[in-house]
Amino acid sequence: MTQTNEHCNAAETLQGAGLSQTTQRMAVLEIIIKADGPLSAADILNRTDPKQKINKVTIYRILSSFKERRIIRELPTDQGMNLYEMACRHNPIHPHFYCKTCRIMSCLPPLTLSQAMDWFAGSNAFRIDDVHVNLSGVCRRCRE
Ligand SMILES: [Zn+2]
Ligand SMILES: [Zn+2]
Ligand SMILES: [Zn+2]
Repeated sequence: MTQTNEHCNAAETLQGAGLSQTTQRMAVLEIIIKADGPLSAADILNRTDPKQKINKVTIYRILSSFKERRIIRELPTDQGMNLYEMACRHNPIHPHFYCKTCRIMSCLPPLTLSQAMDWFAGSNAFRIDDVHVNLSGVCRRCRE
């Protein structure tokens, strides 16, 4: 995992993105901030407090508003499921490893892709809207 111990503050992140701080948005964002790896909508749902009565439709709506405002990154898997992680300065763009057996996606260290993105940012030749670099196979736990 590439995230440092330092974490974003959910309230400040929503404010910075121009989103009002509803209880549900705060709950979903806090789950993503605290996660130790990318999460699916179902993972997020499992981690919500049942008392908050957040359903899957609400989670998808919140995730799409976060994605639109670039608070989070959407990581597609080859099984048609998307995973989500913070797109903040604590979590610079990096490649991922996806285990097809346990369906867990792990973050890999940011290699030269970050440097490449800096180059893209300084050049007006290309406009990069999304970057997806994914490696998949079988992780150690599933091989044992
Ligand atoms: Zn952060
Ligand atoms: Zn695995
Ligand atoms: Zn990641």
